[in-house]
Amino acid sequence: MEVYLAENLGFCYGVKRAIQLAEDSVSPDTCSYTLGSIIHNPQMVARLAEEGIGKIESLDEIQSGTVIVRSHGVGPHVYAKIEEKGLGLVDATCPHVRKAQNAAKQLADDGYQVVIVGDKNHPEVRSILEWAGEGAVAVNTEEEADALPRYGRLGIVSQTTFSGAKFKKIVSKMLERSSDIRILRTICTATDQRQAAAVKLAGQVDMMIVVGGRNSANTTKLAQLCQEKCKTYHIETADEVCDEWFATIKKIGITAGASTPDWIIKEVYEKCQKK
Ligand code: SF4
Repeated sequence: MEVYLAENLGFCYGVKRAIQLAEDSVSPDTCSYTLGSIIHNPQMVARLAEEGIGKIESLDEIQSGTVIVRSHGVGPHVYAKIEEKGLGLVDATCPHVRKAQNAAKQLADDGYQVVIVGDKNHPEVRSILEWAGEGAVAVNTEEEADALPRYGRLGIVSQTTFSGAKFKKIVSKMLERSSDIRILRTICTATDQRQAAAVKLAGQVDMMIVVGGRNSANTTKLAQLCQEKCKTYHIETADEVCDEWFATIKKIGITAGASTPDWIIKEVYEKCQKK
């Protein structure tokens, strides 16, 4: 079996940084907790738990200790509550997400109606919406963009992990919505690079395996893009690789989301090589 890895895959800068900051926060003097899963990868979350890094879903769950804000970032009310409760803070918000948050806030302060192109249920988009203040909205499809009213001033930012091609299509639907539009394409290069490398490889092989958490938005997007080119399977671990996938194929490509640890990619690669 010929097995190829995408030119860009796996942990991005923001995730590496967040995990490093979380691991550095471990101390015998205090307990550390990530607010939500540090990354959308269950295997990595389990490994950090073994190292003594707990997970909370709400600040109400603790009265002391250090809170690790994950790479997706949080809204201003969370920082205020951490301070109010006297908790420690390790802020692992990815600098690219911070840039999107700041851009949204600046647009709102300048009097623009903020529209975030992204999934309103994703924690990163929720954090950007909060920084943009009341009235900001998120759109995830061309249909949702079509349904927007006209605005005096319209400011557009993107979820950092949004597909560049889809962003372009959705923005084109909004160009008629205002005569004063500012577009800030806050998609990070890690996402673009992983998507471009995945699409390129998917066009050269018979089958793609996309490795990463099923709850990871950027991994799911990689799988969707690859699916347009060839048969694609989205798996979380090497245990899910099935013998029957390999019956009629010669070339297989592997890619992985920005939150997929190297050790899992290696296990999948080695298992495929033995087929
Ligand atoms: S995908 Fe980009 S924005 Fe998201 S954590 Fe990684 S580097 Fe940061």
